[in-house]
Amino acid sequence: MPGPDLYNMVAGAPLPGRAAFDKINPVDGTLVAKVHEAGPDVVDAAVQAARRALDGHWGRTGVGERVRLLRKVADRIEARFDDLVVAEVADTGKPLPLARELDVARAAMNFRSFADTVAGAGVDSYLMDLAGGGQALNYAVAKPLGVVAVIVPWNLPLLLLTWKVAPALACGNAVVVKPSEETPSSATLLAEIMAEAGIPDGVYNVVHGFGPDSAGEYLTAHPGIDGVTFTGESRTGSAIMRAVAPRVRPVSFELGGKNAAVVFDDCDLEATLDGLTRSVFMNSGQVCLCTERVYVQRGIFDDVVSGLVDRAKGLKLGRPDAEGVTTGPLISQEHRRKVQAYYDLALDEGAEVLVGGGVPDLGPELANGSWIEPTLWTGVTNADRVLREEIFGPTAALVPFDSEEEAVTLANDTDYGLAAAVWTSNLERAHRVAQQMRVGMAWVNTWYLRDLRSPFGGMGLSGIGREGGMHSFHFYTQPTNVCIKL
Ligand code: NAD
Repeated sequence: MPGPDLYNMVAGAPLPGRAAFDKINPVDGTLVAKVHEAGPDVVDAAVQAARRALDGHWGRTGVGERVRLLRKVADRIEARFDDLVVAEVADTGKPLPLARELDVARAAMNFRSFADTVAGAGVDSYLMDLAGGGQALNYAVAKPLGVVAVIVPWNLPLLLLTWKVAPALACGNAVVVKPSEETPSSATLLAEIMAEAGIPDGVYNVVHGFGPDSAGEYLTAHPGIDGVTFTGESRTGSAIMRAVAPRVRPVSFELGGKNAAVVFDDCDLEATLDGLTRSVFMNSGQVCLCTERVYVQRGIFDDVVSGLVDRAKGLKLGRPDAEGVTTGPLISQEHRRKVQAYYDLALDEGAEVLVGGGVPDLGPELANGSWIEPTLWTGVTNADRVLREEIFGPTAALVPFDSEEEAVTLANDTDYGLAAAVWTSNLERAHRVAQQMRVGMAWVNTWYLRDLRSPFGGMGLSGIGREGGMHSFHFYTQPTNVCIKL
């Protein structure tokens, strides 16, 4: 059965592209949609539509009205909840409960949270004493950045898209979004939802396609964009920096990770094992925050190894809507080849495979899907590539340590710096170690627990800047300071 055509969405209208490519369902290899790839003309039309929206009614829309519209978008996301879940699951193959509880629920929350942020945002003002007497008043007006290019990956498509679109719109910008070629559906559906909520045409535009020599590159190289917010691989971030460098545009980057968990022998073992199972295997390990390095204090190393192996064996792979399924496929055959290459590399580097390590046999119906086994290793060290490079699959290596100091050194021995999780019941140690983690987000006795007002982002290869609450506000606005001599 051929799937529907998915068009670019420009100024509220569907636009065909220069060619159509197949979006394949990673569960069973069936066709989800024919996606219209935007050439330079469609990207240009989208940027111009966004500019016209800014120059027109949207540019004059006050904060109160934008807040009202954003809350309406959240309401419409909830009204179209099931449609969005279906779109997200068809593109990613993730289990239905995950799409419901994480992806789509968070999309609505993103709009509400950033509506609250801008509703409560004040103005910087300073009364200044002048040398010869008298005063001057300074106040800074936060203006939108302008036309913002929003480029996002495939792992949490709608969640990550709305994490950027919601604050951008809340601050009065217009956006051109480029979803991943692997997950075009929910971004397209969101265009309908925007229209239903009353967001004017041209404020939210969607262009489909790939990165190099395609919509991604055409967008970042377009002279009409005023900034880029990007989530994806570190080396793509580097290519985007080069693309915007000639015109010196601001960027906000949420990039890759090689995240550590540090498990001390005073932890609550059962809670830690549950937490590690989530942090290693959630979304088949395809979350930028997922743990790929597990450092365990030597006294409990064997207990953690056997407990985590048991839990990995308990994961159930299968169709997104099948009862009890915890784990979906990888996003594509191409990504599976990459993860499999790391499974092979681990063996070359001397790893002992504790569980998994291959491609599961899930029967003929799923034989064309991109399935891979959840996998755990021991026997590798920080010198090995499997402990240095981001794999982005359902896998982690466990490494023993003796002292707290050694654990901190091992965890920080990486070019990335996105997230870490510390597992301990010692409160002093919790603060001490969490604060020493060279990362954007350090969790203690939990993982991926988010207050959307708090800063989110990474150090080193993991990104530039922070988003969340007022951190997003600062990226998506630019102040004009007005100084009045009184
Ligand atoms: P990717 O970098 O390959 O692609 C991301 C997006 O960029 C896609 O839309 C893609 O088409 C586009 N793109 C690729 N090359 C481009 C170019 N030269 N110019 C413009 N656009 C281009 O990443 P991916 O494989 O889709 O996603 C997985 C990566 O995303 C992992 O590294 C993961 O850690 C990272 N990620 C980070 C976060 C975070 O918050 N830090 C969150 C989720 C995912």
